[in-house]
Amino acid sequence: MPEMRRRGLLIILSSPSGAGKSTLARRLMAWDASLSFSVSATTRNPRPGEEDGREYYFRSRPEFEAMVAAGEMLEHAEVFGNLYGTPSAPVEARLAEGRDVILDIDWQGGQQVRRSRLAQDVVSIFILPPSIADLERRLRMRAQDSDEVIAGRMAKSRDEISHWGEYDYVVINRDIAASEAELVTILQAERARAVRQPGLTEFVRGLNREFEA
Ligand code: 5GP
Repeated sequence: MPEMRRRGLLIILSSPSGAGKSTLARRLMAWDASLSFSVSATTRNPRPGEEDGREYYFRSRPEFEAMVAAGEMLEHAEVFGNLYGTPSAPVEARLAEGRDVILDIDWQGGQQVRRSRLAQDVVSIFILPPSIADLERRLRMRAQDSDEVIAGRMAKSRDEISHWGEYDYVVINRDIAASEAELVTILQAERARAVRQPGLTEFVRGLNREFEA
């Protein structure tokens, strides 16, 4: 059998905070352990329970700016007054190994990645909340942020939501299990696209040899 390895998919997940994106990303990784989550760098402070190198690489602003200047970031953006960015090297290495990578980034990062040299690998998905009341309830349930921070996030949500049309797919997260199933379907379809399967020509040549035998 010829080698059928494809490049990995670069799965961009964006949504306003509180729409369930992190939970969905976790569930996708439980569905397929070969999926890999891109750990971003950020200048924001860790929340209780967050660990450096797991949720984020927590860096000072000068450290972050040095990474950008050295060309180490695939994309970066200012969100809620802090810098966030995706280190390129781990993403590129995993895509080359054929592993799919999940990026949990905002619309600004999404635009940059779609214009990057990895554009051909991108599958972008926007998660919408079923209602704004639901979004606010979920933000408050997290109870990790002050009222002021929550108000800021709600204001940013409207801006984030306005970019839904830039994404390949949109999932309305009414029910987490149903949304997970939709995401799985999207990934399965994207993996099966002919352009993603570089070994197909060789594979079909093998089928033809069988016809002729
Ligand atoms: P949080 O501070 O709640 O973890 O994340 C705030 C927002 O920053 C989320 O919308 C998240 O998608 C976005 N974000 C996290 N990492 C990155 C990144 O590397 N690049 C960009 N552009 N946005 C990010």
